[in-house]
Amino acid sequence: MPACPRDTLYALARDLHAAFAGTSPVVTSPQGRFAEGAALVSGRRVLGVTSRGKHLFLELEGDAWVHVHLGLIGTFTVDHGAWTAEAPVVGQVRMRLATDQHVADLRGPTVCAVVTPEEVAAVLGRLGPDPLRPDSDPEVAWRRISRSGRSIGELLMDQSVLAGVGNVYRSEVLFRQRLSPATEGRRFRRASWSLVWDDLVRLLPLGVATGRIVTVEDQVLEVEAALGRGEVPHLEERTSSVYKRDGQPCPRCGARIRTRVVAGRNLFWCGGCQRRR
Ligand SMILES: [Zn+2]
Repeated sequence: MPACPRDTLYALARDLHAAFAGTSPVVTSPQGRFAEGAALVSGRRVLGVTSRGKHLFLELEGDAWVHVHLGLIGTFTVDHGAWTAEAPVVGQVRMRLATDQHVADLRGPTVCAVVTPEEVAAVLGRLGPDPLRPDSDPEVAWRRISRSGRSIGELLMDQSVLAGVGNVYRSEVLFRQRLSPATEGRRFRRASWSLVWDDLVRLLPLGVATGRIVTVEDQVLEVEAALGRGEVPHLEERTSSVYKRDGQPCPRCGARIRTRVVAGRNLFWCGGCQRRR
């Protein structure tokens, strides 16, 4: 399980935005590796914090941006309360943002750099559409999928196809839609792609709202109902249908759940109801 699945990255951007937009935080690098960048942006007003896929961007006045990618082990925590820049440093903090209201500590990212607007545009240009963003166009992803000889299980993990859907969602959504992860992109049906995209558009906001990956239909309905009533749903332990359930019987058809490394991560699917057609 990644330390920060991409839907919680979206929630993190929202929290950072709420804490720092409009303020001029002191930016430091207690660990030292971002000392130069921190000195460049410290004291500048934060215009906004956004995420796209697994990338996080802080926009600061004067056309400066901080680009952060957490990778698999990075964390970015926002502490609320009467903190100051002198709050104790725990662990290897690459970047700290501090106002008299909030302190946010970034640890273990794969990227933390001050970049230009052109560099931000270049990163965004390489990313496929993000199902969490209402302005995203699934056709952009479909064009790449439908021309590819790679499997859909692999393509769903490719950031240039789809921005940051992640390993749990790829296994669970293909299961939910009864699709074989082994189907080549160019043999994948347009209708199947619509099912996958629409399901991601449905599921990802539930992850943002609850801080958990919700993919089992009973829980999906429960969370949707609670959100519809304006409540924050309380969930029992996160469950999955196929993710990390290899060797167990499929909850739908009873066949054995399988696993294989695809695109560097373990993919899980049912050998019965997700057979290639
Ligand atoms: Zn099955």
